Parts: sequence; structure tokens; C-alpha cells
Amino acid sequence: MANIVISEVCNLKCPYCFASQFLENARTHTESVFISLEDFEARLDFLDASGIHEVRLIGGEPTLHPRFTGLVERARERGKSIVVFSHGLMSERALACLESLPPGECTVLVNINATRQVDQPDEREMTQRRATIARLGQRVQLGFNVYSTRFDLDFLIPLIEETGCQRAIRVGLAQPILDGKNAYLHPKQYPIVARRLVRFARNAMAQGIRLDFDCGFVRCMFSEDDLNVLEQAGTLFEARCNPILDLAITGEAIHCFPLTGKVALPAGSGMDAGQMREQLSRQTRIYRSAGIYKECSTCLHKQNGVCSGGCLAVTLRRFQHSAIRLDVPASILSIPGQE
Ligand code: SF4
Ligand code: SF4
Repeated sequence: MANIVISEVCNLKCPYCFASQFLENARTHTESVFISLEDFEARLDFLDASGIHEVRLIGGEPTLHPRFTGLVERARERGKSIVVFSHGLMSERALACLESLPPGECTVLVNINATRQVDQPDEREMTQRRATIARLGQRVQLGFNVYSTRFDLDFLIPLIEETGCQRAIRVGLAQPILDGKNAYLHPKQYPIVARRLVRFARNAMAQGIRLDFDCGFVRCMFSEDDLNVLEQAGTLFEARCNPILDLAITGEAIHCFPLTGKVALPAGSGMDAGQMREQLSRQTRIYRSAGIYKECSTCLHKQNGVCSGGCLAVTLRRFQHSAIRLDVPASILSIPGQE
């Protein structure tokens, strides 16, 4: 799995956006805010060399790329299935393109609480998004990013029924940008979030809808009973933090957006996706003995590999203002074949 950044722009301004620092950095380093056709072809070669069948398009908002439909067509010509991460407010052209793909070969992850405004869902945006989801039907999985404890997922059940999209919701925890100021959850708030999620999972289960969890959830935010409920609701719970592998327009490979500027590989490393992931994991190994809570260092769940200790960006933030330095030794940062 690898995500390809094709657009460095977005026309919304979500308070929790963890790509904003990446997008700002990227803008100062590249001439174009959109991937060129030539570079996109190189990314497809990279996916082929890595044995990856799926093209995962991210941004910014990927559908804003002026040649979005051309990129999708090119990926299809090369036998790839398509995954698009979108806020769901796309042009008719982009929508018609995705609508023409077979549902089994196209997934559009619609970030349902993406918005211009803090805590005020824009009704016009929701109306447009609802229409888009209805047209894409089974191609759509809804995504919801939790960035405060006052969230409510109940509106998603009628939305799924109305639009006929997938009966699964991808839930993410907003994570901090290391040097930025996005809205994110403090680990002390995780148990409150867990209680709300489990309550919702029970209701959703009754309607045949399950929750899928993104990275950064931790084992101790849920009780044994909670985990049983989630399991019955079809959720495969994993408390993980692994390299996501986001390929920037510059060709740089980034662990994930929140670790922009901290954990990345330069363009032209010559590695395939598996090797990149291994190398990014080596870069972060030194930080892994800690976790988001001070208890993580001695936690049995961590020692047994049940929990990663939470999001590394949160852990790094924990130490940001302390005297502890977390420099990575040059030997760990070096790239095989370039040592
Ligand atoms: S490793 Fe840390 S976050 Fe994970 S379960 Fe243990 S104490 Fe909780
Ligand atoms: S540091 Fe780990 S948990 Fe946090 S966003 Fe990146 S991959 Fe996900």
C-alpha cells in the first residue's frame, strides 16, 4: 500500500487537517501544485515494481487536479484499481469519471466531516456531498475524523440508508502536526472518545453497519467489554502505528502527514514500497520504546505487540518541550546501498 499525492491544494479548511503543514512545505519546494503526467507514470512504475495493484490518490483534494480524469484513465489502462481520498465536493467531470468505474475497482473514501468551518457543518456542502455519495453508491465508504470529544456519528446511519453507500464507516483520530496548530485529541480524552464510539457501534451494528478504525487508536482506551462489542459489530481492532507511505509530488516518501519533515526518505532512493516501509520503520525505532502515556514504557500490551503505544506524532509532541533530545543516529537514517 502506498498513497500518491497528486494535488497539493484543497478548497476546504478543516480544523484538524494534518496535511496542512505538508501542503505548506510542499508549496515552497515545488513549482507545480499538481503531479505531472510524467511523474504519475513513474509512480505507476513504482507500484508495479512493488507488486501493488491499487492506486491510492490523495491530496490536498485529489479531484482538484486539472487532469484528474486522465490520471484515473491512465491508471486503469495499467490495470490498477482506484482508491480516492476526497472531501466529496467534486466537479461533475470527476464525479462522472468515478461513477463510470466498476464498484469493485473503485473506492472513494469520503471524509464526511470535512468543512470550511469549525464545529458548524455547512448545509450546502452536506447537500452536495449527499448527492455525490448517492451517485457513487457502493463505491463510497464514509470517513469521519474525531477531533473533539463532542462528536456525534448518529447522522451517518440515515445517510448510509439514503445513499446506498458501503455499510462501513472509517473512523480516524485527529493527530497533531508536530510544528503546527491543528485541532487534535489529547490522549487523556481517548477514553471519552472510546465510550462514544462503542455506544455508536452498538446502534450501528443493529443496522448492519460496522466501524473500521484508522491508525493511532490504543488498546487501553477500550475495556474488554468494549472490545467484545466492537468484535461483534465486525470491527477488526488493531492498535497500530506503521508507516503509511505517502509519496509526495517531489518524490519524497513520507511516513505519514503528521511526521512531515521528521521521518521521510528522499526521492530517487531506488527502493520498492516494502523496502521503504522497512527503512522508515528503522528511522522510527529509536522512538518506539516510549508511547503516548508514561505507562507505555512498561505496558504489557506494548511488550506483547498488542499496542504500538499510540501515534508517534503524539509521543514526539510529549517530549517536544522536555530536555530529552530524540535525534536519529546517522547509521539508522542511512539508505541501503548508499552507506
Ligand atoms: S502501550 Fe500505552 S497506549 Fe498502548 S495500551 Fe499500553 S499504556 Fe495504553
Ligand atoms: S504517526 Fe502513526 S498513528 Fe500517527 S498518523 Fe502517523 S502512522 Fe498514524
